[in-house]
Amino acid sequence: MPLLLLAAASRMRLLFPLFALFLALTARAQINPEWTAPLPPFQIAEDLYYVGSQELAAYLVTTPAGNILINANLETSPPQIRASVEKLGLQWADTKILLNSQAHFDHMAGAAQILCETGAKNMVMEGDADVVESGGRTDFLFAVEAVPPYLPAKVDRVLRHGDTVEIGGVTLTAHKTAGHTRGCTTWTLPVHLPGEPPDRLRNAVIVGGVMFWSDFRLIDAGDQKASYPGIAEDFARTFRVLQALPCDIFLGAHGSYFGLKSKLSRLEKEGPQVFLDAAGYKEFVAKGQAAFEAGLKKEQEAAQQ
Ligand SMILES: [Zn+2]
Repeated sequence: MPLLLLAAASRMRLLFPLFALFLALTARAQINPEWTAPLPPFQIAEDLYYVGSQELAAYLVTTPAGNILINANLETSPPQIRASVEKLGLQWADTKILLNSQAHFDHMAGAAQILCETGAKNMVMEGDADVVESGGRTDFLFAVEAVPPYLPAKVDRVLRHGDTVEIGGVTLTAHKTAGHTRGCTTWTLPVHLPGEPPDRLRNAVIVGGVMFWSDFRLIDAGDQKASYPGIAEDFARTFRVLQALPCDIFLGAHGSYFGLKSKLSRLEKEGPQVFLDAAGYKEFVAKGQAAFEAGLKKEQEAAQQ
């Protein structure tokens, strides 16, 4: 090989890791602008508020004994979430518990800062707990551009399917809806809607996530291994769990899951009743399940060839 080419090749070898590092760092910057676009906080139910951005959902459950925050979102999100909480006239320091939808960076990268500022207890589903403590580095998709690392956060309590989180007379239930991440969590809680009879409670469901994309592998086939052993069974079980949940108020980790934008346009006129959407929930679960079954079939057929 001519000397010049040799020099170029060795420079390439040197540059490649640098380029990979550059890509890994810029992956954080490649985010949907709606993930960071602010949104004024609003009430969903009596003790339930939206404090997220236009697309990355964060919820505050208020109780006389302190508040629960669901989702810390991006590394840049904590000041935005805090501003929303304070705009509601509530104290940031009253955040006693941090919960999450899933251990990906768009829901958990802000956790370390929020825990540091509030002293809240961090409760995470098994399967995601080690991912949160490693800052995303033990995620089965780690090294994929869409799943960058983030600041690790200590976990105070590891949750299991069906566990409850109780504070100030409010009880939330954690449903393990794994597949998207190994500990992806759907939260449910009974809430009262302003204007409804005091004894009428509604079931709020905050879906953790059911999506998968081309980086996911659902089954073993030849040299290619499933993203993690049992991922297809987890997804199948997740859809059974979601189908069985009674849902009046449909919410989720991303605004787009539950049509936040169109519901917001009706909110001022119609009030929090716009979030009553049992049919939208059923449709979301059915569509997610159909996509999963089609993806699984495609992999199974490819494996047989
Ligand atoms: Zn995710």
